[in-house]
Amino acid sequence: MTSSLADDIRYCPYCRSELELRLIAGRERPYCPACARPFFSDPKLAVAVIIYHEGQIVLQRRAIEPGIGLWSFPSGFVDRGEVVEEAALREVREETGLLVELERLVGLYSHRGHPVVLAVYQARVVGGQLQASEESSAVAWFPLDALPPLAFPHDLVILQDWQRTRHGTGLNDLQRHLEPYHLRREKQNKASGEDIPSE
Ligand SMILES: [Zn+2]
Repeated sequence: MTSSLADDIRYCPYCRSELELRLIAGRERPYCPACARPFFSDPKLAVAVIIYHEGQIVLQRRAIEPGIGLWSFPSGFVDRGEVVEEAALREVREETGLLVELERLVGLYSHRGHPVVLAVYQARVVGGQLQASEESSAVAWFPLDALPPLAFPHDLVILQDWQRTRHGTGLNDLQRHLEPYHLRREKQNKASGEDIPSE
């Protein structure tokens, strides 16, 4: 998925005319001259869940690109019209087999020029059984001081925010443990132009 709607659609979905770019509401946007209709690109909302129990969190090993073979939180896109919290519960159930209860919103994460806004929740397990899905080749509990290679630079940022807001402290063991890997991965991602899962 590209960051710009202009890159994604070239023809009007209503009349199939070729779209042009026009300056509308301060930005160049796709515009259908036949329908006299501008097209506005909305952000895309995704959810991720930190499932926590006694010093451990659940991560899944990604079976698809980007970040294949690396580990990340259960996450996915919110459907249009779906309640965000219900999407979080659904993604966890689909990707880990666990039933969870959301405890709090950890934060909202967005990047300039990128379409995805990620809402991150903290949750606790209330049922189900841990099992891998189509999108993950493995799911497992990991102690916070022995996490596997994380798939995306923002995973570490999210964990740091989560830790900081749980304990009210700044830098922690987690960061010291993972920072070299995180920086290395960030450089790789900059080179390949990817840092967030896209469709
Ligand atoms: Zn049209």
